[in-house]
This record gives sequence, structure tokens and C-alpha cells, in this order.
Amino acid sequence: MTGQAALRTFAEREGATFEVRNPANGDLVGQVANMGAAELDAAVARAKAAFPAWSAQGDAALQQACRAVCAEIADHSEELARLITLEQGKPLNGLGSRWEMGGTLAWARYTSELSLSPRLLQDDSQGRVALHRRPLGVVGSITPWNFPVMIAIWHLMPALRTGNTVVIKPSPHTPLATARLVEIINKVLPEGVLNLVTGDDRGFNLGGAMAAHADIRKIVFTGSCATGQKVMRSAADTMKRLTLELGGNDAGIVLPDADPAAIAEGLFWGAFLNNGQTCAAMKRLYVHASIHDAVCDALTAYARTVPVGDGLDEASRLGPVQNRMQFDKLCRLVADAGQRGRVLLGGAPAEGLFFRPTLIAGLTNGDALVDEEQFGPALPIIRYDSVDEAIALANDSPDGLGGSVWSADIAAAREVAARLECGSVWLNKHGAIQPNAPFGGRKASGLGVEFAEEGLNEYTDIQVIFG
Ligand code: NAD
Repeated sequence: MTGQAALRTFAEREGATFEVRNPANGDLVGQVANMGAAELDAAVARAKAAFPAWSAQGDAALQQACRAVCAEIADHSEELARLITLEQGKPLNGLGSRWEMGGTLAWARYTSELSLSPRLLQDDSQGRVALHRRPLGVVGSITPWNFPVMIAIWHLMPALRTGNTVVIKPSPHTPLATARLVEIINKVLPEGVLNLVTGDDRGFNLGGAMAAHADIRKIVFTGSCATGQKVMRSAADTMKRLTLELGGNDAGIVLPDADPAAIAEGLFWGAFLNNGQTCAAMKRLYVHASIHDAVCDALTAYARTVPVGDGLDEASRLGPVQNRMQFDKLCRLVADAGQRGRVLLGGAPAEGLFFRPTLIAGLTNGDALVDEEQFGPALPIIRYDSVDEAIALANDSPDGLGGSVWSADIAAAREVAARLECGSVWLNKHGAIQPNAPFGGRKASGLGVEFAEEGLNEYTDIQVIFG
């Protein structure tokens, strides 16, 4: 073997896996296969081969199979929670990885019990018309790093429940828990129904290749707006079905009659759930001038009580930021905001990837921390004078994922909610999604919805039989 050939072989072997490190301390958590086009083709071929038998087995059998999947996940819940904490960084406790596993099971179970029955549109002397829902074939699932197991389940369960087979690609930042989830689920599924592909996004563009693949009929994608747009472009030639759950820049509006002390805890977790690395977290807070200072004081006082540390420490309620790129973005936005506004709490990076909860007042639309999705533990607070002004500022965004209104007067809050240009609005809470309510973005925040019957529909094509 020539020297150059040896070097090449070594480089290829090096590229055959990539490392996953614990964001709390940089320790190696595991190695994952760095796959290319051949591995993707093989995974899609397995899924395609498994589709005819899987989809033909009938609704009751599909439901039974999904229930068996739920039982396996329940048996491995703690193991998966620990793996999420190790690679994602969120704490085991509080609204952390055990909570993520609780959500995972709730969604898996609820989706298993849903059913799409045929609908008779007409049955009279003029004729019979029946609407059926047909599975699509191979579904490609592409997931982000913030809730690696729960979001995987949001994609997998409706796909499997409706008779599709799946190829899933987790984020290169958090592939281990998803890989283990797939292994666990595959104990009870037939060969080829659920397949995993992994890659590090540096060489071969695995997600892009999935979006363009001729034998994948749908992509369900959760991630940033920029990548979602790329998926949409790559998917055009094969006319794929798409569900795109993208970024958000959710506004919260505190009306003048709200009680600052009563809402402080809800405001905090609405913004800082998962360290703010949550699609539908509150990312801008608009507070009426009459209670602005009192809300700032109450929020700051509550934020000071939240323990930040290594996620494996049972006392931690927030962990590190998940990755360097996200951390650097946060540092840039907070440094800029610190010069324009008034730092109430935090305001500077701590050790490693840790960044303590940061609250910055005195900002307005046009400031980067207000306009951009920070996706991290820093909340801008904006003072407003009239409710019309607050609604205009909240809607002044290309995104439209979620929003919230905080008030003692629920009727008044509902009126404000109706005027917000976003897919979900919560009253006196933020981000509380649930499996029986469709969830999706308006404007640039996405296409289609997940959850409930509306979400299930997205894994099917309509077929109407006349006669
Ligand atoms: P990202 O867009 O960087 O990556 C998401 C996934 O896309 C990863 O698996 C990545 O490997 C893959 N990918 C990269 N390039 C691709 C390409 N060209 N084609 C197809 N796939 C490709 O997002 P992220 O940083 O992992 O997650 C953070 C973002 O996700 C935030 O904007 C957040 O708001 C959003 N998010 C949205 C929701 C929601 O439900 N709306 C939920 C969670 C996160």
C-alpha cells in the first residue's frame, strides 16, 4: 500500500464515526456511525421492502403494534432519560429528561389510540362516495437536538400508526438517545419498518439527501427555518409531502391587570424551559408600563432561585447550553443587548457551555435579541404603553409559532389572543403543548401541523372511491 493510499484509508476510517460529547463537561459519551449515500439507500430500501406487509395488516394490528412500542419505551424510560441528559445536557429532574420521557410516553400512547376511519361523503340514490386515508410509503424523519427522544416520537408514532415505514435521522449533536430508542422499538417491530441513519453534517449532507430521495414519500422535519427552507427546495422534484416544524420567536404579552408575583414562575419557565432551547418558548416579553418594574422584580427574584448545574446532579433544574454554535450565538446576542438595555440578571457566559439565566430590560423591536431567535437562556423585556402597540410589536416578526397573554381577565386575554399571528396562544402560561391539540406554525414557522387527528392526517394521502 502506498503512503498516500494508507493515509486515505485511515482518513476514511476516521470519518466512519463521529464523537458525541457531554456539554456539561466535554466528556466523550459515545461514537456514532458517519453514514453516506450507500447507507441511506440501504435504509430506504429496507423501509420500502417492509412497507407492503406493514401497511396491509389493517388498523387493529397497527394499533396493537403501536401499543407494544409504548410498552417497550416505558420499560426503558429511565435509561433513555439518562442518555438524554448525558448528550443533551438537560437535567434529569424538573422539566428535564425524565419529564421529556413522560411527554414521550404521553404522546406515544395518545397517538396509538387515534384512528382514521373512512368517511362516507355521500350514500343515496345518486351514488356512494367514500373518503379513505392511505399511507404514503417511506417517511423520512429529521430531528433537532433540543428534545431528541420526544420529537422523534412525535414523528415516528403517527407515521407507524398510519401504516408507513420510517427512516429517521437524528441531529449530529444528540444521536445516541434516538439510536437507543430505535433499538428498543425494533425489538417489537418487523425488520425494516423503522430504520436509523446518522451523520455529522460535515461531509455528506444526509438530511438533504433524504429530502431529495426518490423513494422517500414524505419528510417530517423539525429544526430551524433556514434548514426547513432547504428541505422544501430539495423535496420539490419528488413532490414529497412535508411537515415542517420550524423556529419561532414567540412573544408574551403581560396586560396591565396581571399580578406580577402570581405570574413570575410561569413566565420564567415559559421562557427558560430547556434553557430556552425550545421551539415554542417565550422569546420576547412585552410588559405594560404600569407593572413593568414589578414584573421585572418578580421575574428576577424567581430566576435567582433556579439551580443551574450538571444535569446528572439531581438538584439541577437547568443544565448547560447544548452546543458551541448555539452558545456563541447567545454570547453575541447578549453582549449586544447588554449595551442597548439594562441587564437585570446574568448577562455573561459562565464556565464551559454554562450560561446563567439572563434577563435584559430596556430593549425594543429592532434590537437583535428581540428580533432573532436566541434559542437560549436570555429573555428580552420590552415596555409598552397600549395593548394595540403590544399586539403590533408581537406580530412584527416573520415567525408565527406561539404566543401568550397574561391577565386576570380571561375574556380580555382571549380577545388579544385572537389578534396574534401565530399557531398556538396560551393564556397565563406559555408553550404547554399537548397530544390532543394540533400544533404548527403560521408564517415562516412551518407548514402543516403535528398531533391529534389533524397531525395523523399528514401521514396519509386521501383516496376517494366513487361507487
Ligand atoms: P437545524 O435546522 O440546524 O437541524 C435540524 C436537523 O436538520 C438536524 O438533524 C440536521 O442534521 C438536519 N439538517 C442539516 N442540514 C440539512 C439539510 N440541508 N437538509 C435536511 N436536513 C438538514 O436545527 P437545530 O439547530 O437542530 O434545532 C434548533 C431549531 O429547531 C430552532 O430554530 C428551533 O426553534 C427549531 N425547533 C422547532 C420545533 C418546532 O416544533 N417548531 C421544535 C424544536 C426545534
